[in-house]
Amino acid sequence: MPSQFAKKFIVGPGKAVSLAKIDPRDDSAFKGKDQAKAQTQKDAEAIDALQDKLYAEGKHSLLVVLQGIDCSGKDGTVRAVFNTCGPIGVEVTPFKVPSPEERAHDYLWRVHEACPEKGIIGIFNRSHYEDVLVVKVRKLAKPDVIERRYEEINQFEKMLSDNGTRILKFMLHISKAEQAERLKERVTDPAKQWKFNPSDLEDRKLWNDYMAAYETALRRCSTAHAPWYVIPADRNWARNAAISRIVREALEELAPKYPPPDGWDPKTVVVK
Ligand code: ADP
Repeated sequence: MPSQFAKKFIVGPGKAVSLAKIDPRDDSAFKGKDQAKAQTQKDAEAIDALQDKLYAEGKHSLLVVLQGIDCSGKDGTVRAVFNTCGPIGVEVTPFKVPSPEERAHDYLWRVHEACPEKGIIGIFNRSHYEDVLVVKVRKLAKPDVIERRYEEINQFEKMLSDNGTRILKFMLHISKAEQAERLKERVTDPAKQWKFNPSDLEDRKLWNDYMAAYETALRRCSTAHAPWYVIPADRNWARNAAISRIVREALEELAPKYPPPDGWDPKTVVVK
């Protein structure tokens, strides 16, 4: 069950979302920047402790899907929310333009392969949703092929969920103006130029089409077993605080525990 906090961001199953009506600068879930940053730090530490138990117990996995337009802060979220987790037990998978081998398979093949095994937190930087977002906007597949993918994705995620994977999907919602600021920084700052790709400007021209494609995906693929959350993301600190709290709560709900000794008794075992 989503908490009161998570309910502020969740997309109810089948509910229509108007992204234009969600303010990317909304920070009303927090009492200012300092409080939000302190909360994020505490939640990140709690996530680390829970992740250790998740790994030790090996019963469940957590899949965190990060989607958003260019510059929406997907990498920054990974850094901020999972910064205290050790590399054991956390796997980040970026999804780029499919390779020839990936293209030769069905679109979920590479995704299924990257899904976290029990005990692992898997983070998708982009995901199978690209197959109903960029593929739709840039008309890389026929409309009827894209149309049936929403239900295929729901079935796929249901299967993962039935097999022990808790799924959280975050759409990082930034404004067009904020994207312009971030793109300008990428063009001018030598430390960020490597992140700039001229094709980002082509996608920017298709902003409205992307927003419409997101709205469809959010409406059709937010389910009880794999909910979507729309996270106002113009302010990094508000974005990080929202996501870290929702991730922490999901892990707390899974309530992983250290397993007891298996086949031996700590009272009788003596280490000399
Ligand atoms: P980043 O995620 O940091 O922007 P890139 O600049 O390499 O990384 O961008 C990855 C690109 O791959 C994006 O433009 C994205 O839309 C594209 N992409 C991801 N999945 C697919 C897919 N299934 N079909 C076509 N393009 C895809």
